[in-house]
Amino acid sequence: MKLKIPVLFVFLSAAAAFAGHSEEKWIDADSPKLAEESFDKTYKDFIFRAKIKTENGGKARVNFHRAQNGRTGYSVEIDNDAKSANWWRSTGSLTSVRNIVKKFARDGEWFDLEIKVHGAEINVNINGLCVVEYVEPLKPFRTKKNSGMLLSEGKLSMEHTGGGRVYVKGASVEPLPARADIDNQRLAAIDESSDAVIRLHQADFPVMDFHVHLKGGLTSDWAFAKSRKIGINYGVAPNCGRDFELNESSKAEDFIKHTGSQYPFILCMQAEGREWHKLFGPDIRGRFSYVFTDAMTFNDINGKRIHIWRDDEVDCPKGSEEAYMDLIVKTICEILENEPADIYANPMRLPKALEPGAKKYWTDKRREKVLDSLAKSGKALEINMLSRLPDFEFIKAAKSRGVKFTFGSNNAAPEFGRFEYGYEAAVKCGLTSADIFNPYSAKISK
Ligand SMILES: [Zn+2]
Repeated sequence: MKLKIPVLFVFLSAAAAFAGHSEEKWIDADSPKLAEESFDKTYKDFIFRAKIKTENGGKARVNFHRAQNGRTGYSVEIDNDAKSANWWRSTGSLTSVRNIVKKFARDGEWFDLEIKVHGAEINVNINGLCVVEYVEPLKPFRTKKNSGMLLSEGKLSMEHTGGGRVYVKGASVEPLPARADIDNQRLAAIDESSDAVIRLHQADFPVMDFHVHLKGGLTSDWAFAKSRKIGINYGVAPNCGRDFELNESSKAEDFIKHTGSQYPFILCMQAEGREWHKLFGPDIRGRFSYVFTDAMTFNDINGKRIHIWRDDEVDCPKGSEEAYMDLIVKTICEILENEPADIYANPMRLPKALEPGAKKYWTDKRREKVLDSLAKSGKALEINMLSRLPDFEFIKAAKSRGVKFTFGSNNAAPEFGRFEYGYEAAVKCGLTSADIFNPYSAKISK
């Protein structure tokens, strides 16, 4: 049931706020603060609206709930620069709480930004699309540096943070009536007492699952709502290859045109089978942000095409395990060194028949071979969060060779965790944002 009483109040205050500014202003390095009369008041619950345009990679922040006691409040990022060093903190990001990888707005084009703060909830909309939906829990997790990043009340400000000019017009602030149901709102909050996602965002570490499939009933709407809710950016991939529905270039093209254009995700290609690059040339590959492949489809010792996740296809009789392992390692190294993919996904996976002996079969010598090929290839290594592969020792060895990393799930169903293994790997292997593959920098597949 909705409360009816505040409607009139909302209407009146909205009318008052919209008296505002339609003239075009800008901020840049010489004049980094936007002066707006309406910013100089204390706001608690409000909607901020503005039309914004960045030029030459201009970057800015809208700050709110900033108070004189030094409390920082929150910020929303404006950054449409594809070459940005902070590629994981694009326009609409709720800074260090819900950082967004996807560029929903473009340099040189006006876009609508709306920030709504109401009770315990913060929403950010870009061109009418909700990209952040954050409910502050009763006990939010904040690092020491960000300890003032909390809801309260305070002034608004807009500041330039780098690059070219940022133009603003029609900036307005609409006060909202206080909510009486904040306890109810908080029922929808994520418990941050153990949540890995907020810990990574607070450390300004990219939080992206590069390997998500719309499978097992996971629709794009559901995936987008889930991504917003739990704060993980998704790279969504169709499987492209001879044995899949998208088995030729024109079908991948259709997918991008008809389905992909509706997606509010980073769109990427999972390349399947060893002939994939003959089916999908650089033109179509270039339409996807990046391409990843794994070493789970190949011709076995008898020359038979197998998919190692299909147990009935794997023919590895007793006594042939070592030969089978050698074939797997050889396949991985050939893929790494010869195929035009950006990322090696589902790494170190073995057929079920070999899994119980994985520790024994993955000898130091075999691991070294894969590591050498990986470093030589310039490909990134996926840290798979569902299979929990590769192990930390391998990740550390890859890091020491300068290899970049991605995090991936390769989900078969709508539920696939909250970055648990990714967080553990980042902490235990000392990964920093510089170790993570930048999806805007993919070159090998292009
Ligand atoms: Zn996959």
